[in-house]
Amino acid sequence: MQLEIADVLVVEDSALQRQHACQLCAGLGIGQQRQAADGEQALEMMRERLPALVLLDLEMPKLDGVQVMQQMAREGLSVPIVVTSGKDYLLITTVELMGRELGLPVLGGLKKPLHSQALLDLLKRLRAPGGGQDGADALCNEQDVRLALDQKQLIPYYQPKVTLDGGLLKGAEMLARWRHPELGIIPPSRFIPVIEASGWATELTLCMLEQGLTQWQEWARRGLRLPLSVNLSALSLKGEVLINEIEQRIRDSRVPPRYIIFEITETAIADNLAEAIGIAARLRLGGLGLSIDDFGTGFATFQQLMRFPFTELKIDQSLVTSVADKPHLEAVLNSIIELARRLQLSTVAEGIETNTDLDFVGHRGCLMGQGYYFAKPMASDQFESWVKERMQARKSAPEPAAPKADD
Ligand code: C2E
Ligand code: MG
Ligand code: MG
Repeated sequence: MQLEIADVLVVEDSALQRQHACQLCAGLGIGQQRQAADGEQALEMMRERLPALVLLDLEMPKLDGVQVMQQMAREGLSVPIVVTSGKDYLLITTVELMGRELGLPVLGGLKKPLHSQALLDLLKRLRAPGGGQDGADALCNEQDVRLALDQKQLIPYYQPKVTLDGGLLKGAEMLARWRHPELGIIPPSRFIPVIEASGWATELTLCMLEQGLTQWQEWARRGLRLPLSVNLSALSLKGEVLINEIEQRIRDSRVPPRYIIFEITETAIADNLAEAIGIAARLRLGGLGLSIDDFGTGFATFQQLMRFPFTELKIDQSLVTSVADKPHLEAVLNSIIELARRLQLSTVAEGIETNTDLDFVGHRGCLMGQGYYFAKPMASDQFESWVKERMQARKSAPEPAAPKADD
């Protein structure tokens, strides 16, 4: 795989490790490597010219890696960062989180000595939607987003949700995309914050739901009856409007409610406990599915979880992607899966990118997964072709690993 990264700045006090890192980068096709032996020198070099990537060691004389990141944030030196350290993973993860809280595009962390494959896996995030680079994209302008809503340019992409042991298709998550007439497809990180800040969150939910219901009917006519998941913004949890409108649309569409699942994030619940409980109860009373999204990133307590009538728990991708390289997360993952089992919730691991991720979460008892390993989010026609191909493959070679349509 060819990476399009022009240059890298390797910040590392050990000459040996520096040389090793440069060799790995050269091997991955990064044309130019610059080196800094301490934090102060690194900042000087970044001020002179921003590199496309920084490999940043944590323990260094003068300024350490933490101080370098704090200074980068203060000076607006926004460069994708890979944190490297010989220390334990818990410390590396803490520093990664700190960098993201400071608004820096941290791709991830690696334990030294560095390995080419692990570095490559992180660098792929530079181009992946939802990856570290994504958050650094500029937000869209409010007037343009208003126009997009009015002109129905916001459409759902569909990402399959499959069983981990047999690859059976169990549903699809609808993820909003802006099909811009000139700029092409724009990811949600660039327009959803604008929608939420402008008070249009409920409008977005209903716009996605309506398209999903129409799509469901179309696929059902062709024999594919598939549960569809809709993301609910934290900001649409306020007030009665949303739930009444949702119920109305589902009644009108005649789609059986059990085929629609609403995803609410852990943070949204913690922020609006009373309203969220009311909405959750009404959604479930109406026979709809209810999923807790991005679980493991917030601070939802066991008690809070127990009060909600969830049917599904989605484990956040930070606990899934490359988890085999982060041994300290294993206990967290195990306890989440166990918790879900006790509460009789189905579990979905988000962000399965490799066979290793799949094996790791599968062996720990997680039932379903979503991720680039199976398929990226796709427009409805591409999704349909994907399903057909899988079914075809299954017919000609009935291996257990080939997904099939299944409700
Ligand atoms: P989410 O609901 O947690 O959705 C999962 C995100 O992870 C999606 O990003 C998906 O493309 C990405 N993803 C899936 N598999 C992988 C993988 O293997 N590796 C990696 N690195 N990423 C993977 P996307 O589509 O950019 O959406 C980002 C977030 O935007 C969503 O996170 C959700 O919170 C929000 N969002 C998307 N559509 C809607 C919507 O219609 N309404 C609301 N309220 N929020 C939405
Ligand atoms: Mg979701
Ligand atoms: Mg999620």
